[in-house]
Amino acid sequence: MAETIFSKIIRKEIPADIVYEDDYVLGFKDINPQAPFHVLFIPKVRIATHNDIDNSNVDYVAKLHLAAGKYAKEIGEDENGYRVVMNCNGNGGQTVFHIHMHFLAGRQMNWPPG
Ligand code: 5GP
Repeated sequence: MAETIFSKIIRKEIPADIVYEDDYVLGFKDINPQAPFHVLFIPKVRIATHNDIDNSNVDYVAKLHLAAGKYAKEIGEDENGYRVVMNCNGNGGQTVFHIHMHFLAGRQMNWPPG
């Protein structure tokens, strides 16, 4: 499967509002935010969907969680709470096929999700 726009964001070929970066992960603001803080944390390697996580790349997924936790502390939303979501394929609502953790904070989240 062809690379997505997120590969271009990783290579800085197209602009993004980057709020977090380390050797494994990039975090940038979602262009269509669903909460006061809506950041996408993505691995710097392409993993197309949640189904494609395996023993060779699972460390990247752990790094997404670590990055999200650090960011929550940095913006002072760790105690208020937040939501991390990864959508998979059609029923999950995935539209970009490079896994990304949605980080949503700054308002009350509802459950069950729509
Ligand atoms: P999905 O529906 O795949 O879980 O989420 C994809 C997310 O990527 C959407 O929330 C959408 O707004 C965001 N998105 C799509 N293209 C871009 C882009 O070029 N830049 C940024 N910052 N976000 C994007």
